[in-house]
This record gives sequence, C-alpha cells and structure tokens, in this order.
Amino acid sequence: MNTEPGISSETASLDFLRQRIRQDGLDGRFDGRVHTRFPPEPNGYLHIGHAKSICLNFGVAAENNGLCNLRFDDTNPVKEDTEYVDSIREDVRWLGGEWDDREFYASNYFDRLYAFAEQLIMEGKAYVDSQSADEIRESRGTLKEPGRESPYRNRSVEENLDLFRRMKAGEFPDGSCVLRAKIDMASPNLVMRDPTLYRIRHAAHHRTGNAWCIYPMYDFTHCISDSIEGITHSICTLEFVNNRELYDWVLDTLGIYHPQQIEFARLGLTYTVLSKRKLIELVRKGYVNGWDDPRMPTICGMRRRGYTPESIRDFCARIGVARAENLVEYSLLEFCVREHLNATAPRVLGVLDPIKIVIENYPEDQTEYFDMPFSSDGSIPGSRKVPFCRELYIEREDFREDPPKKYHRLFPGSEVRLRFAYYITCTDVVKDAQGNITELRCVYDPETRGGNSPDGRKVKGTIHWVSARHAISAKVRLYDHLFTSPTPGSREDVPFTEELNPDSLKTITAKVEPALASFSVGSRVQFERVGYFCVDPDSTAEAPVFNRTVSLKDSWAKIEKNSAR
Ligand code: ATP
Ligand code: MG
Repeated sequence: MNTEPGISSETASLDFLRQRIRQDGLDGRFDGRVHTRFPPEPNGYLHIGHAKSICLNFGVAAENNGLCNLRFDDTNPVKEDTEYVDSIREDVRWLGGEWDDREFYASNYFDRLYAFAEQLIMEGKAYVDSQSADEIRESRGTLKEPGRESPYRNRSVEENLDLFRRMKAGEFPDGSCVLRAKIDMASPNLVMRDPTLYRIRHAAHHRTGNAWCIYPMYDFTHCISDSIEGITHSICTLEFVNNRELYDWVLDTLGIYHPQQIEFARLGLTYTVLSKRKLIELVRKGYVNGWDDPRMPTICGMRRRGYTPESIRDFCARIGVARAENLVEYSLLEFCVREHLNATAPRVLGVLDPIKIVIENYPEDQTEYFDMPFSSDGSIPGSRKVPFCRELYIEREDFREDPPKKYHRLFPGSEVRLRFAYYITCTDVVKDAQGNITELRCVYDPETRGGNSPDGRKVKGTIHWVSARHAISAKVRLYDHLFTSPTPGSREDVPFTEELNPDSLKTITAKVEPALASFSVGSRVQFERVGYFCVDPDSTAEAPVFNRTVSLKDSWAKIEKNSAR
C-alpha cells in the first residue's frame, strides 16, 4: 500500500483518487460534501471509455453519500445534436447512473458565462483580439520559445467591452475576432498564453437556437459550470493536466467557488478505437452498421451485443483508476461478460453448424418431451419442454470420422450422451458423391432416458442437439474484433480504417430449439457448449436473429492446439 503525502493511512486501501476525496472529507474540505459530475459533450455516442468515467463519478459520489450530476457540455453548436443527448441519457441510465433532477446543460449558463466574461474584461483580464486564427496560432510560441503578444492586447477596457458586445450582437463574421484571457504569453504552460475564451459562430444551437452567435470555449465553460453547480471534485482525464492551471486561474480571478480538479488516465482497450472522431468516421462512412453495431465499443453497441451493465461495471472496477496511461486487454472485458452471463443467462440448446443424425431404432412418428431446467444447479429458475424425435441435428464438429486421441465425442462405434436425453452410438456415415458427410446413422439405448444408464455404464462425451422436425432456423451473427491490430491507428503510415478486420462479422443459419421463438428482443441465453447469445432487435418470431455476445472457452480447441505443438 502506498499513500500520498498528506494522506492518512486510514485511506490506504483506496485508489489514489478515492484517497484524495476521502482525505478531503476527513479534513473537512468542502464541508465534507462530495459532489461530482459526468460531463459529456453531446457530439457522439458514449463508449466503454465513458463507462469508466461514469462508474468513477457516480461510484465515488455513491460511496461518499454524495451526488453526481449529468451535465451536457454543449458549447459547440456545429457538432452537437439532440440525438446524442438522448442516447447519452439512455446509456448513463442503463449503466446505473442516477442523477434525479440534476440534469444540466452548459448552454443553460450562457447568460452567466457571458456576464463573467464581461467581468474579466472590466478587470483588465480579457481582451478582444482581432488577429486571424492563423496569426494567433503562430504567435503562441513553442515549448522552447515564448509567445508574442498580440498587437490588440492592450486595448482599453472600454474598447474591449464595446467590441465584445458587438461580437455578441452579431456585428462581426466568424473568425474575425475572439475574446482572450490576458495572462502571460511567456508562461511555460502553453495553455496559459492568453487562451481563447469566446469565439464567433453564426450557427444555431440545438437548445438555444439562434439566441447566440458567440460561444464560450471548453476551458472557460467547464470550470464555471462546475463552480455554479457546487461540484467538489472535478474528475477528468489526464490530457487536461495542463489545463488545471487555467481552471484555477479563471475561478480565482473571478473570485468564485472553486472545486478541485483531479486527473486520471483514460481507458485504452486493445483491438478497438475510443476516439469519437474515429467512431464517427466508422459510422458515417459505413464501415459499421450504425452506432449500435454490436462490433462497436459504444455502450449501445455493447448493449445490442448482449453485454450487461453489471459486467461493464465489474470491468470498470477491475481495471481500477490510476494516473499512468494503460492499455487494457479486450479479453478482460469478455471475461467479465462471461462471468455475469454464466450466472444469469438461461441455458438452451442451439446448433450452429448442423449435421443431421437419424436414430434408426427410434419410432418414426414418436415425439418425446424432456423437461430441461434453465440451469443445472437451479440458480437460474425455470425450465421448458424440449422435443426429441428420430431425426436430430448435432454440431458438425462433435463428430469425427477419424477421431484424434482423447476425442470423446461422436465417431463411428462410439457411444455418447445426448444432453438430458439418451445414449446413442454411431453406426454408419452417409456421404454424397463428393465425399461430404450428409448424415449420420445411430442407434439409441431406450434404457438411458434422461441421459443416465441404469447399468452404470459411463460415457465420456455429452453433446447438444435439437430435434430436426421442431427446430427453428435462426440467423446468428458471429462477431470478431473490429480491428486486426491490437492498437489500431498507432501506425503513422496506415490509416486506422485499413486495419479493420474483414472477418469481424459472419452470419450463419443455426438450428435452435423451438422455445427460443418466444424469447423477446434483448434476451440473453447460453447455447450450451457454444457460447452466449442475445436476441437482436431485427428478430421476429418467424425469423429469429441472435448476436453472439461472447464465445465459451472451447477446451477442445485448446487441447488440439497444444498437442499440435
Ligand atoms: P473526444 O474523444 O472528442 O476528445 P471525449 O472522449 O473527451 O471527447 P467527452 O464527451 O468530453 O468526450 O467525455 C465525457 C467524459 O468522459 C469526460 O470527462 C472524459 O474525460 C471522459 N472520457 C472520455 N473518454 C474516456 C476514456 N477513454 N477513458 C476514461 N474517461 C473518458
Ligand atoms: Mg472531451
């Protein structure tokens, strides 16, 4: 355990961020209150990186009997839209975030932000700069060289006020001038070299319409919004570490309530991208089928894929919070999904790659129904009746004509258990003219009803099946990573879209037990021995569609791989 300077040992088991917040509580800072916020910009859909921030902000508040606001950081009218606002609300709620009536919008503060800007002008701390954007950029300097002061930097308070009011009144075109803070063009921190506070944008805003043609910048808006809402700890990602000095400067200069900004490392995940710009490109250029494509790392994509909020929260808890940038293995997320679905998803029968078997000694017109529980240990309540008859489908890979060593499934002469049904023995293999196996002939032992032999005879293999006459055909979408590279976009010479995995979606037709026709959209199931699946919104009772959420770990594939070495 390590504790930071000034942090008591009482908090030693916590991560650095929770330590600091707990310590502030012990020290009586902010009157012992904890009030956080999750501040998305409504310019895209939320992704798994945002989930980390949501779990952190809502989690820390809940752990400390505090509150967490949902605040839309909507200061860029050109990129934002109510479609995004609605999706963000839905996704935060789905993940378990509760904000009651504390749903705020930076745009609600436009009047107050404007008044604060005038206050800075009147105190000689802000000026209207009439340089072009290029000139401003060029005169900012570098890490090695100080910036150059703008020729407009020493305009009088009266002139600045007049110009700023005329900016607001719409007298100037986009880009003709900006409002800048007057701080220090020689500051070693580039953020502090007279940052822009307001710019002109003659554009309609999704909430304020045409009321404004000047819009405040993030750095000015964010700290004041935090201050207005009485936020105690403003948790943000590491790239804002240099902006903290400006955050503090704005609030101190205005002399208003001052929250504490704390930075943490953003989540990086292998085989995917988490930049909104890139995600938007994937959607707009049609590389995926929309924001909720189950291959997307978006919350709505993961929901459609069958991931549960519990598993995503578990993932966020396991990755923890630190200040060092890190790249998390996608397989950890899949592990969390499997863990939760293993405990909660009803087990049913589905055959992905069917091959027909005929049980020669089973009466042609007979149907039996086996009552099968949704879990073998009763942890998932309920059961259903599964029909059994003379012709069944089993998984093609559960049969081998020439079985390798230790192969315990079906092969000529071998006896296996059909899950919950009977022991069968393969007697013959039927092939077409090309030599492809079209059918297997088997016999069953009527004494083994329910899948147990009264004479104590053991079989090593148990395989799943569905009745050929009763099974329904279902479209099943099998997903793989969206990208072939574990770090897409990291190569300078290759655009990230060239690292897309051409095999990330494969659609097959499976045979599934008839009970699945009545499972509603969003239902999650385990196809025994195959994996976890979820009913897709495209599904109908006549033509069900399943997404493979995550596969089971196939132990046989592993054995084969190891013995091949
Ligand atoms: P962009 O990708 O355009 O820079 P953003 O991902 O920062 O945008 P916001 O809507 O501003 O998007 O993010 C809302 C909150 O989510 C912010 O507090 C941000 O720090 C946090 N967040 C965004 N991405 C991640 C990530 N990968 N890991 C952890 N937190 C994140
Ligand atoms: Mg951001």
